[in-house]
Amino acid sequence: MTLTPVLTDKLAEPRLAVAGGFINGKWSSVSSRGKVFRVSNPATGEVLAQIPDLATHATREAIDAAHAAQPGWAALSAKERADLLKKLNRLMVEHADDLATILTLEMGKPFKEARGEILYGASFIEWFAEEARRVYGDTIPGHTANTRITVIKQPVGVVGVITPWNFPNAMLARKLAPALAAGCTVVAKPASETPLSALAIARLMEWAGFPPGVFNVVPGTDAAAIGEELCANPKVRKISFTGSTNVGRVLMRQCADGIKRMSMELGGNAPFIVFDDADLEAAVDGAIASKFRNAGQTCVCANRVYVQAGIHDAFVARLKEKMAQLKVGNGMEEGVDIGPLITGKAVDKVEDLLADAREQGASIEMGGAPTGEMTFYPPTLLTGATRTMRLAREEIFGPVAPVFKFETAQEVIELANATEFGLAAYFFAKDISRVTRVAEALQYGIVGINTGLISTEVAPFGGVKQSGFGREGSKYGIEDYLDIKYLCLAVDEV
Ligand code: NAP
Repeated sequence: MTLTPVLTDKLAEPRLAVAGGFINGKWSSVSSRGKVFRVSNPATGEVLAQIPDLATHATREAIDAAHAAQPGWAALSAKERADLLKKLNRLMVEHADDLATILTLEMGKPFKEARGEILYGASFIEWFAEEARRVYGDTIPGHTANTRITVIKQPVGVVGVITPWNFPNAMLARKLAPALAAGCTVVAKPASETPLSALAIARLMEWAGFPPGVFNVVPGTDAAAIGEELCANPKVRKISFTGSTNVGRVLMRQCADGIKRMSMELGGNAPFIVFDDADLEAAVDGAIASKFRNAGQTCVCANRVYVQAGIHDAFVARLKEKMAQLKVGNGMEEGVDIGPLITGKAVDKVEDLLADAREQGASIEMGGAPTGEMTFYPPTLLTGATRTMRLAREEIFGPVAPVFKFETAQEVIELANATEFGLAAYFFAKDISRVTRVAEALQYGIVGINTGLISTEVAPFGGVKQSGFGREGSKYGIEDYLDIKYLCLAVDEV
């Protein structure tokens, strides 16, 4: 395993950079196949680390370790588990700058955003440390005079966690925290573009004093092999996945034989609706925040911007002005708003979607071609978008804002819901009846009303339709990692 100075020289605590798997409390520096893979900075192409390319064998070892550790972990008191999670939270906050540096270097988002992600991830650790102590059951009046019914909640067991590259810290923290709080143990497979953030969390957990086997990380490029082992191995009782809907479908099929529990945080196609009575400045700021965060590479990014005819031209003009102020560049540089896209393939996808939109009559008001340097793409504004364009149906995952003009609330509700996805939706309006009716009519798990920023640990994040099921955060989040059992007790007279 190798770490390069491109990475370690930028860290106040270089031990946070690790290039190995983490299994049963030990760092493994070699893969049984003798293979390694490279992690590179998408902004510069520089190699940050070479990591052992683990696959089935290591996944099985990690599952065995998690399985052996689970009863002991669950047997700790909720407070003991909570205390360790609180320690982890403190370490994440203390090392936020280094964790953000690792994140920016491996995936490209601006340092300020990366730091925000670390604190967001840490907030889930803190939240579920608190929730660990509130896993309450129920007592139910018995069905006969001599019966007592009590409902208790118990950890599901070993959880296989698979996470994407776009939030390499927070997507893991959102699963790890409720799983550990509930008394489950975890085997995590981070995205192969961004394993370093997950490994840094493992390092902090080692320092916090979590018992060996409670958390394991299996980095590797053979996602299909690792995924198959996690889904097929009977010692794993649940899969929690964040990623594309297509891979989600594969995992569901693989989990069918073992009737495994699942949580699925999948793709989105968020409508962002601006009604005539909206506060124009707030709507534009909301659109900038929702569309351009992480260079448009988030599952809750505005994908389709619907603007009512009466405010359309004013909105487009103001959005264009604000977009012109966004600076594209290396996320480690001060003042950068938009980093590179994750890979060349991501740039190609954006180009394909734009070519299709152009062919079908959309006008490019701004941007519309790669900068030519690495995978940087400028903020791009389109008007005249229509429902037949591919970008109306597919996740763009780039800094492209297509604007669709609409006339009535009924029309836009129908357009907004005309997708198999149902993760996040946004709208801006003031009329109270409109706000109420539209919020109720949108078929989405999350609706931002007069705001473009909706993510917080206190709310139940998750989708409907093909955006998945299960919730992360809030009092609901821990339920995904608990089984319900009822005790039916027959009592005699005394
Ligand atoms: P992806 O291709 O589905 O990859 C996600 C994870 O799955 C990665 O760790 C990947 O590993 C792994 N994977 C790929 N093929 C697999 C297989 N056959 N079996 C098991 N694991 C497999 O998604 P992505 O392109 O990285 O991420 C973007 C997607 O995530 C978007 O659709 C986005 O909307 C969604 N997302 C959803 C949420 C949410 O909360 N709903 C949040 C963030 C992102 P490798 O990296 O090694 O290929």
